[in-house]
Amino acid sequence: MAVQKRNKPLEQDPVERGKNFKEVSLGFTEEVAVNEAMRCLQCKTAPCISGCPVGINIPGFIKKMREKDFGGAGSVISESNLLPAICGRVCPQETQCEEKCVLNKLGNPVAIGALERFVGDYKISQGEIPKAITKNGGKIAVIGSGPAGLTCAADCAKAGFEVTIFEAFHMPGGVLTYGIPEFRLPKSIVMNEIQGLIDMGVVIEKNVVVGRTVMLDELREEYDAVFIGTGAGLPVFLNIPGENLAGVYSANEYLTRINLMGARLDDSATPVQKGKNVVVVGAGNVAMDSARTALRMGAEKVTIVYRRSRSEMPARLEEIHHAEQEGIEMMLLTNPVAVLGETKVEGIRCQKMELGAPDAKGRPRPIPIVGSEFDLFCDQVIMAIGTSPNPLLSKVSPELKMDRGIIVTDENGLTSMPNVYSGGDAATGAATVILAMSAGRKAAKAICETLFCSRCKING
Ligand code: FAD
Ligand code: SF4
Ligand code: SF4
Repeated sequence: MAVQKRNKPLEQDPVERGKNFKEVSLGFTEEVAVNEAMRCLQCKTAPCISGCPVGINIPGFIKKMREKDFGGAGSVISESNLLPAICGRVCPQETQCEEKCVLNKLGNPVAIGALERFVGDYKISQGEIPKAITKNGGKIAVIGSGPAGLTCAADCAKAGFEVTIFEAFHMPGGVLTYGIPEFRLPKSIVMNEIQGLIDMGVVIEKNVVVGRTVMLDELREEYDAVFIGTGAGLPVFLNIPGENLAGVYSANEYLTRINLMGARLDDSATPVQKGKNVVVVGAGNVAMDSARTALRMGAEKVTIVYRRSRSEMPARLEEIHHAEQEGIEMMLLTNPVAVLGETKVEGIRCQKMELGAPDAKGRPRPIPIVGSEFDLFCDQVIMAIGTSPNPLLSKVSPELKMDRGIIVTDENGLTSMPNVYSGGDAATGAATVILAMSAGRKAAKAICETLFCSRCKING
């Protein structure tokens, strides 16, 4: 019997979408979503669940979809994940739940992420009245409103705590809002899912930089526990000559200005230079997002420069595929050695590389090929080679133990300070949305068990 192929979501045409910021993937129609749900074998052992860091009951929500009970599917997901429309869009499903799906043995896993997105969007379209929560008398402060902070806040609020999130920016969401571009994750979706938290009674105090506007110790005095979910927003540079020329951006600054500060609008108070010939250094999701954003900002040519080969590119395969479809060039086994120009970028000097023995992380080490330097003309360079956590909090609170720039925690997220927890990129270095959410959940459970065990309502 022929096996039914996995359904693919509709997408905007590659040529058209390169000129606009509208979402690339259009998701499933109801008919296709139900058809895809029918492919699930409803396995008793459900190995897919072990691939999901927050443990969504995947066959459970898919079963409801098969019955066209999308509200019921939403309720099943809500038991473990408050941000399904976001995770359905940006989770690296292919290396998580879908990798573990039994149908992946035939290279044809159930499209779990796309189904989750469908349910998330359905939930948003219906609006939801939150259930009344009995307060337990405790107060929790959460620093940072990225996925780690939001998840910790949601779980603590569900358990009856009064929760206040302190966010440095004027908009909540962390990287979901200022990093991942609109064409991959519409901001209306992010704001709608955050509204769910606000409806549960979580207060979000914006424009508050903890460590400047208010001190960690002040929060510790006022709240029973504090969760630090400050992410990893400090850009890393190559430290090569010319990196201070006008026209060199960190991906972080470039994307934040465009996503959060409206720099794509002609009358923006904080514009970015619109490069014609743009080089993006790096090959992760951040590099793909920067390259595809530069294209939409009007660049005629965008080139990704990466020092290893295609198989080591850290970006999701889907993002690499989308970037190539849109005409982004990949210059592999190539490493920049200098940015060229007098006051502004005029080009970039690169060196060819070859792959050598594996490094400490098991990836082949890139080795420069002597005498292989060449110059590439460009008028803008975007550095997307990584980020690290901002050291502000540990500087003003030296009791907060750090190790190589990362907040040290135990397996429950507890830091070196009593009743101060941390999780997400701040405690791991740059990782993924769902890992940050899982860390937020773990810390919430520990907070709940430590402070009000008998009244804890967090599952598991
Ligand atoms: P963040 O999302 O960074 O949130 C931290 C928040 O804390 C921010 O809002 C920040 O303003 C705030 N903050 C920092 N310091 C303070 C302070 N002192 N006081 C108050 N507030 C503070 N992951 C995926 O899974 N899939 C993807 O497709 C993907 N694409 C990405 C694309 C880009 C461009 C980037 C940058 C990252 C991407 N990631 C992706 C990674 C993912 O977004 C992060 O791993 C995740 O957002 C980390 O969550 P977090 O809550 O730990 O931190
Ligand atoms: Fe898969 Fe991510 Fe959804 Fe979990 S949250 S089921 S890993 S897409
Ligand atoms: Fe369905 Fe795949 Fe999970 Fe089996 S492993 S229950 S087929 S999603």
